[in-house]
Amino acid sequence: MTDCIFCKIINQEIPSYKVYEDDKVYAFLDITQVTKGHTLLVPKEHVTDIFEYEPTLAGEVFARVPKVARALEKAFPEMQGLNIINNNKELAYQSVFHSHIHLIPRYGESDDFSIHFGNNQAAYSSESMQEIAEKIMKQVEQ
Ligand code: AMP
Ligand code: ZN
Repeated sequence: MTDCIFCKIINQEIPSYKVYEDDKVYAFLDITQVTKGHTLLVPKEHVTDIFEYEPTLAGEVFARVPKVARALEKAFPEMQGLNIINNNKELAYQSVFHSHIHLIPRYGESDDFSIHFGNNQAAYSSESMQEIAEKIMKQVEQ
């Protein structure tokens, strides 16, 4: 896609700090470095978000996540954990509309990353949980 910043990075039209590349994916340092080594893994094929992936491309991209994860772990032995984040659509904090996976190494509780998982268990009866699960199950592509 001509007007996509990540396509331009993949095509070397704008610079990046490359971490890994093969025929299917490109991985490079996120310019903000939420934590040291914060890396983005992107498919070379332009897809906007998770909803656009064909199964083959999804397999190719997601199969490479552990490869980059292990490289980070080896590069930074002081790393104590890794958050893998994929934002989809503006409300969910997607700001670049070429799908990408964030790999964010964690070094301690006071590093510059946080995420909040609320707990709303009390608001859902087992019947409503079952209803929600069935509603989703009906929509899963066969
Ligand atoms: P998201 O907000 O999930 O869409 O993530 C997009 C990420 O791309 C942000 O974390 C930005 O810091 C990062 N980003 C944007 N432009 C560049 C660039 N030219 N080089 C590296 N990272 C970038
Ligand atoms: Zn693109």
